[in-house]
Amino acid sequence: MDEKITSETKLGVLQDHIPLQYKYTAGVAGDRFLQLLKQGKIQASRCEKCNKLYLPPKIFCKECFSQLNEWKDVPEDSAYLYSFTLVKKKKEGEDGGEAAKEIIALVKFDGVEGGILGRLKSSRDEPRLGMRVRPVFRQKNDRKGDLSDIEYFEKANY
Ligand SMILES: [Zn+2]
Repeated sequence: MDEKITSETKLGVLQDHIPLQYKYTAGVAGDRFLQLLKQGKIQASRCEKCNKLYLPPKIFCKECFSQLNEWKDVPEDSAYLYSFTLVKKKKEGEDGGEAAKEIIALVKFDGVEGGILGRLKSSRDEPRLGMRVRPVFRQKNDRKGDLSDIEYFEKANY
């Protein structure tokens, strides 16, 4: 016997939860990148053929498909604010008061493809696109080998 759905409002509904857990690996280049972050270093992978630098690092060049084995330190003074968004944080059910503000930034580096997402420490100055920023790493013992090892970026006065 065929049953046909003739009306969406007459469908029976069963509510339940399906717990799902994901584990996502950072990959070969990503893992090395995160281990370097833990040491307070930001490195990009470089294609010798195209002379391109990638951050987060890739193991293959997206232009010529060469395998990338060379890694280079990204100069600290090459970081700049490419884009940002202001996030207002308020807990559910919380009334009144000022919501905590946080600036999430996409930071790029001169001559490097890609960039890093992180928090931008707010200062009195309004964030300005293109302004020089520098990464501030967590204390060594507090680093976990993930992006939060860069505690925040702050305006640099180069
Ligand atoms: Zn290439």
